[in-house]
Amino acid sequence: MKIDSTLYSYYLEYNAAYKSKSQLIRVISENWFKDNMFCPFCTRERINIYNNNHPVADFFCDFCGEEFQLKSKRQKLGNIVVDGEYNKMIDAIYKNSVPNFLFMSYGLNFDCINDLIIIPRNLYCLELFKKGSLYHILLRGQDGQAVILF
Ligand SMILES: [Zn+2]
Repeated sequence: MKIDSTLYSYYLEYNAAYKSKSQLIRVISENWFKDNMFCPFCTRERINIYNNNHPVADFFCDFCGEEFQLKSKRQKLGNIVVDGEYNKMIDAIYKNSVPNFLFMSYGLNFDCINDLIIIPRNLYCLELFKKGSLYHILLRGQDGQAVILF
C-alpha cells in the first residue's frame, strides 16, 4: 500500500466545498486517514470511518474493533490541546469505550505531514481530562515535557 505523504490532493479536492476552515481541515485529515492508514493494532489494511456522528470516535477497525479519534493541527503539535465534550469522554472512560487518540500535524500549505502519533487508550486516566464543558488533553506541560509518558 502506497501512503500519500501530503494532504495537498485532499486540499484541492475539498477546498471549494467548505467555507469553514476548521471543517475543511477536519474533512481533509479524516479523508487522508481513511485512505492511507492501516490499523496500528492488528495491521488490517483499511480503517473505516463512522458515517454518523459518533460521540467520541471518528474511525474503527472492523477486524479488531479498536476505535480512533484523529485530531490535526497545522505545523507543530507543540503544547497541543484537544477539546471535545467532556461528559461524553468521561462516560466513555467509565464504559471502557474510549477511543485511541491520533495526533497529526501538517505543513503550512498541506504539503507534508510532520507528525502522526498515537496515544493508546489504555494509557488514559481521568486526570488527563480537564473538567469543563469541553475536555482538554495536554500532551506537554509548560516545561515542554510530555504529560503522557510511554
Ligand atoms: Zn485492527
